[in-house]
Amino acid sequence: MLTRFAPSPTGYLHVGNVRTALICWMYARSQNGKFLLRFDDTDLQRSDVKYIDSIIQDLRWVGIDWDSNFKQSERFERYNEVFSQLIKEGHIYVCYETREELDIKRKLQLKQGLPPVYDRSALFLTEQEKIRYEQEGRKPHFRFRLDRNEVVNWNDEVKGEINIAASHVSDPIVKREDGIYTYMLPSVIDDIDFNVTHVVRGEDHVTNTAVQIQMIQALKAKIQTFAHLPLLHFDDSKISKRKGGLDIKSIKEDEIEPMALASYLTKLGTSDPIEAHVSIQSLIDSFGIEKFSSASAQFSLSEVYKLNSKVLQQMSFAMVEERLSQTGVNSSEFWYFIRSNIERFSEVAKWWQICKSNIEPVILYREFAKVALNALPQGDCNENTLSEWVKAIQQKVDIKAKDLFMQLRLALTGTKTGPELAKLLIFIGRENIVTRLKE
Ligand code: GLU
Repeated sequence: MLTRFAPSPTGYLHVGNVRTALICWMYARSQNGKFLLRFDDTDLQRSDVKYIDSIIQDLRWVGIDWDSNFKQSERFERYNEVFSQLIKEGHIYVCYETREELDIKRKLQLKQGLPPVYDRSALFLTEQEKIRYEQEGRKPHFRFRLDRNEVVNWNDEVKGEINIAASHVSDPIVKREDGIYTYMLPSVIDDIDFNVTHVVRGEDHVTNTAVQIQMIQALKAKIQTFAHLPLLHFDDSKISKRKGGLDIKSIKEDEIEPMALASYLTKLGTSDPIEAHVSIQSLIDSFGIEKFSSASAQFSLSEVYKLNSKVLQQMSFAMVEERLSQTGVNSSEFWYFIRSNIERFSEVAKWWQICKSNIEPVILYREFAKVALNALPQGDCNENTLSEWVKAIQQKVDIKAKDLFMQLRLALTGTKTGPELAKLLIFIGRENIVTRLKE
């Protein structure tokens, strides 16, 4: 089995593309198959290496690896060869209409209530007319001639049985007047030449598939298995207000853990529950293309945030040790304590600093601080220190437990909220407690 992900490097990856990539990749890996990364960059003007680089980085970030990769721009010779063959065999024909002319035709058809399917008038051009167009300076473009009598049919692994009448589809342009191959034909040639067995992509490609099946037939090659994923809906108000929308760059800036995103994107719209997975292998093991529903799904950013906390809560010290050491944290006890109190990884460093560095304590009442200092139990702090300490303070002053906790928290951490104070004391340590209360 071989699947492929084929992004066009004309922009940054969006969560929608990453979902397709993850599903293609997991499908292959779940079957011990291979995975190919292909850059659809035939449009050299719109493609940019900076997008290729960022796509590679983003795919790696989310945990995807590939067995091989290439750019379509390396294969123009091969496309030219197949293109000439298909012209010779009458599958591709030359056209001279301008964009404006095609536009007028389309509008007229729509006005008459007809489907806007290309009328094939170029098929009836005489050699002389073609020469005249060339002399006028018109550049040719080329279309693939569909078999209009066929109802193209395939059994889609996600959408089930699909039938598309070729008579309702325009002969697709395969090469534009500027000489650039459109996506249609190179994709088919590559899928054949590289022995892709399963084409997994968004359902916006369903009509393309009908066209491409006829191209594969014209090339007398084996038709792949297709799976078209329903598109995600992104109409959450939070998302529309976001700067940068939902490209992976902004997801990273949001400090979403790759495993939170991968857990969400590969379970959304399936019969499996959406849960936090901390290992990509566990996602691969539970992957099944048959679990995907053919109905579209709603992407919710708040769900991703929730999963993010859950993923953090389940990560072992070994999984984060390297990242922790970069922020100066080297205590596994601290990680196991703090991981259930954070929504983002960077909060670990924040709490570590609150415990270990000089902070700005907030002392509401000097008298209280003095009493608290004197009542602090002797010795190193442990799990019971706080309760003993509170009892001792309450013997000296008449104060409600709630106020007492608040004043201690402010004095020791400088903030009103945070993780369980009893445990926090252990990491702050006696020495810091004394210094902070003395301020
Ligand atoms: N470059 C195409 C896209 O990004 C690839 C579609 C396909 O998977 O065939 O939509």
